[in-house]
Amino acid sequence: IFIPFKEDGDDEQEVGERHKPLSPFQLFWKTIGNDIWMFCFGVVTAFLSSWIGLQIPKVFGKLIDSTKSGSSLTQPALHAVAILVIQASLNFLYSTLISIACERYSAKLRNTLFESMLEQEIAFYDKNSTGDLLNRISSDVQLVRSALKHSVSLGVKSIGQIVGGTISLFLISPKLSLGMLTILPAMVGVGTFYAGWLKSLSLRSQAAQAQSTSVAEEAMSNIRTVVAFSNQEYESQRFAEKNKKSLSLATESGIQIGIFQGVTSMALSSISLLVYWYGGTLVSAGEMTSGQLTSFIIHTMNMQNSFSQLSILFTQIMSAMGGMTRITELINKTPAIESGVGIKRNTVVGDIQFRDVQFSYPARPHIQVLKGLNLDIKQGQVVALAGPSGGGKSTIASLLERFYDVDGGEILIDGVPIKKINAKWLRNHIGIVSQEPSLFATTIIENLRYGCPEATEQQVMEAAKLANAHQFIESFPLGYNTIVGERGIQLSGGQKQRIAIARAILKNPQIIILDEATSALDSESEHLVQEALQNLMKGRTTLIIAHRLSTVQNADAIAVVKHGVIVEYGSHSQLMAKKQLYYQLVQRQLSLKDE
Ligand code: ADP
Repeated sequence: IFIPFKEDGDDEQEVGERHKPLSPFQLFWKTIGNDIWMFCFGVVTAFLSSWIGLQIPKVFGKLIDSTKSGSSLTQPALHAVAILVIQASLNFLYSTLISIACERYSAKLRNTLFESMLEQEIAFYDKNSTGDLLNRISSDVQLVRSALKHSVSLGVKSIGQIVGGTISLFLISPKLSLGMLTILPAMVGVGTFYAGWLKSLSLRSQAAQAQSTSVAEEAMSNIRTVVAFSNQEYESQRFAEKNKKSLSLATESGIQIGIFQGVTSMALSSISLLVYWYGGTLVSAGEMTSGQLTSFIIHTMNMQNSFSQLSILFTQIMSAMGGMTRITELINKTPAIESGVGIKRNTVVGDIQFRDVQFSYPARPHIQVLKGLNLDIKQGQVVALAGPSGGGKSTIASLLERFYDVDGGEILIDGVPIKKINAKWLRNHIGIVSQEPSLFATTIIENLRYGCPEATEQQVMEAAKLANAHQFIESFPLGYNTIVGERGIQLSGGQKQRIAIARAILKNPQIIILDEATSALDSESEHLVQEALQNLMKGRTTLIIAHRLSTVQNADAIAVVKHGVIVEYGSHSQLMAKKQLYYQLVQRQLSLKDE
């Protein structure tokens, strides 16, 4: 038999590193990395641009005073053009730098997020819907990215303009400035308070929207079932209902933001009016020139603009902080089963023991699925789990793969409790052939190499031959490079199973879990698959989850699982002779077949 990679030697202990929780700021720092320089340079250019912008009102004021006094306009006009050109170049520079830095940051954040999601234990996926998780990767990252971008493009510029503008105002006319600036702080205070309330509203609306996306995601990923049951209308309604809730919250939030912006702009316009009126009286009294009043007014308008941009930015930053909190929580979440931590050994013999195993699914903690289960499987043995559906057969296999940790008792592999074993390493030594093998929409060879990327073409082919898959793969025009699934060739159930078997053979694990198909294949395929399975099982410890009983008669032992314990154990003939549960199940299946 084909045995590619196996090392020998002493037991080896290796403990992986646990990651430390990060604050949102630390996460930002770590994620942005060296791009922080580009980001900072962008911030500096944005500041410079807003500082240059402060010169514009002054130059315009000078232009107006020159017209009045009859002196030449050429010099102030050239000055104005020079300033506009410099500002435009700075705008181009900061906008490009910040865009690139933010895009790179968000791509890295997305990678980190996806990485940490994939590290989570299976129970995490039982509890969180895929739609919700996808939303984190797309919408939440998007929120953070645009808030970051706008913090610079709008925020830095606006703050620069407000600070610089205030100074300029005082330089032009302290009297007029004082009059105006006494009203501003009060307005800003009220605005900030109101915006805080808006934030909580927008968070609720985002959460509701995420829920509606989950419904759509679920319906689409189960589209065949939806269509088969003609439930399109039902799903549309479910989606519409969720959408309605999110819509009403979003509408409320929209109205409130509208009120906020309306009130803000009215308040700001009143300030302008005040400036016109008071400034006009100062010009009449000869306390300032009309050019100075013009620059004062342009400054005030710029500052108004900056204030309203800041208020928009504020709401944006608030929702981004919501997104960042959710992202950080996820990235910080230590998986219940840390797959990179624990003992790695050099060899696996393949002895398996379940000792008094008790287990409830974390998503349904009150329902005990396994209630003190005991089972011994010796190296090289083939043990089939039979029994009524829902008895716990698949659960036993999931626990052996350590998709979940047991609540009581223990599972030992070669005498070592699996809780102490490095889960990644453990899973590398277990091969799974499931009833509906999931293949990726890529080439056959890549699918085969999924568990063993370093395998050579020769090894892949050898495995495919042993799995009775070589022949049909070669019959495709593109052979091993045929794309499977959506954009390629649709494989039959039997072909998919043989690819899954070849994939398992290539991985060369010492332990095999066979989740036997519930639906029967045609007899030709059945024969080819059975033969392939015999090749796979040779010399390996095998646990078969038997949904149909026809194929397990040759197993070394059959364990009948019911209500989370093993109620009968023995060979097919022993159990048939006993005439109890197993016998009844076989009889029932035979009678179903006859019908
Ligand atoms: P079998 O393979 O014997 O048909 P299972 O092990 O699939 O039985 O299921 C045993 C029990 O555990 C059933 O009651 C089932 O509803 C429940 N169960 C299975 N998977 C999950 C899960 N991911 N979350 C919660 N309960 C589950």
